[in-house]
Amino acid sequence: MAKHETPLLDQLESGPWPSFVSDMKQQAEVRAKNEAGVEFQIPQDAVEDLLGVLELSFKHGRTHWKHGGIVGVFGYGGGVIGRYCDQPQSFPGVAHFHTMRVAQPCGKYYKTDYLRALTKIWDMRGSGITNMHGATGDIILLGTTTPQIEEIFYELTHNMNQDLGGSGSNLRTPADCLGSSRCEYACYDSNALCHFLTNNYQDELHRPAFPYKFKFKFDACPNGCVASIARSDMSFIGTWRDAIKIDQDAVNKYVANDSAYPANAGAHKGKDWGPFDIEKEVLGLCPTKCMKFENKTLKIDNSNCTRCMHCINTMPRALRIGDDRGLSVLVGAKAPIVDGAQMGSLLAPFVEVNPDNDYEAITSIIENIWDWWMEEGKNRERLGELIMRQGFQKMLEVTGIDPQPQHVAYPRTNPYIFWKEDEVTGGWERDVVEYRKHHLR
Ligand code: SF4
Repeated sequence: MAKHETPLLDQLESGPWPSFVSDMKQQAEVRAKNEAGVEFQIPQDAVEDLLGVLELSFKHGRTHWKHGGIVGVFGYGGGVIGRYCDQPQSFPGVAHFHTMRVAQPCGKYYKTDYLRALTKIWDMRGSGITNMHGATGDIILLGTTTPQIEEIFYELTHNMNQDLGGSGSNLRTPADCLGSSRCEYACYDSNALCHFLTNNYQDELHRPAFPYKFKFKFDACPNGCVASIARSDMSFIGTWRDAIKIDQDAVNKYVANDSAYPANAGAHKGKDWGPFDIEKEVLGLCPTKCMKFENKTLKIDNSNCTRCMHCINTMPRALRIGDDRGLSVLVGAKAPIVDGAQMGSLLAPFVEVNPDNDYEAITSIIENIWDWWMEEGKNRERLGELIMRQGFQKMLEVTGIDPQPQHVAYPRTNPYIFWKEDEVTGGWERDVVEYRKHHLR
């Protein structure tokens, strides 16, 4: 029998979607039965009490978690997030309920023995509840007590060769897509770059020295499977700068509705979308209208292509990304804490990805930006907010990137031009000055 009545939470289980409440009840039962004979280091009924305190929060319409004090592991300034309940007498199992962030492997590839070892530690020293994965990308271990934190850290680092992730005002655990490990569209090896930068910036990851949080995310192509453009202060999106490769035979197979060439790679099987129409589904949806199909030949004006991936996604057997590949760097995305949500702005349209020189072209941009932000950023000011406050032009100055028309967010809205005196080198202004000098007294 459940320890606490939870009528409000029970209601959340009634919808069509899987419910976290059902998962928590299942975990509470596992701990109550404890068939595995685990020696729990935090109370066996921690999950029951978690359900109880959540029910109370729903009833009162406010949280019962206090902003926790500082908890962490020796030598690190992040990776553990303190949580304390303000009703410890009623819910002793969650009196402390700290979260630990564990750095996820690039591409989130795991071996099953790794996952078993991790959950074994967490069953014994934590609540057993995990979040795979949190919004930052890490493995989130939810709920442990202060005395267990160093023990868990020791077991992770010494027995599993596993590091904690980032939290607080530091570099957050970098996160990436599968990249060239599995995806044919990958324009660079996002796993390799993410792994390199994670190792290269260990200090920034573990020792908070920034004005606020800072996130890197890596999408190996413009399809953006990790949505880096919306979720990271610095977003690295794969791209190419030569021509899209076209197989004209395959294009004509799509146009002829050959069953071996389904549009969108057959992604919408089971629904009849009618015959494929290249004019409507590809040419008409190209954002820059840079394609034409004449005399059974598809042509692309590559100088106007923005590499949005639409045509390639629609006819994947006919079109391929180009061969001269690299990435674009975007900056300033963030969630709506101050000034509302922001998407990333394009900073560098094409940067080479070269592991042989330790990705120098990329690290130099990163470090110039950090120097500026650490010097000028106010406490708890994200990079995107600093750009809004000091201007994108300042960002171009600190990174040494030449301005381009694409950097202009808003065209001028008034017709007046103010010249500095030293910019006036001649013309009618000089004539007026000369005339006044000689003829007016
Ligand atoms: Fe047009 Fe996008 Fe295809 Fe480029 S990638 S040709 S912009 S649809």
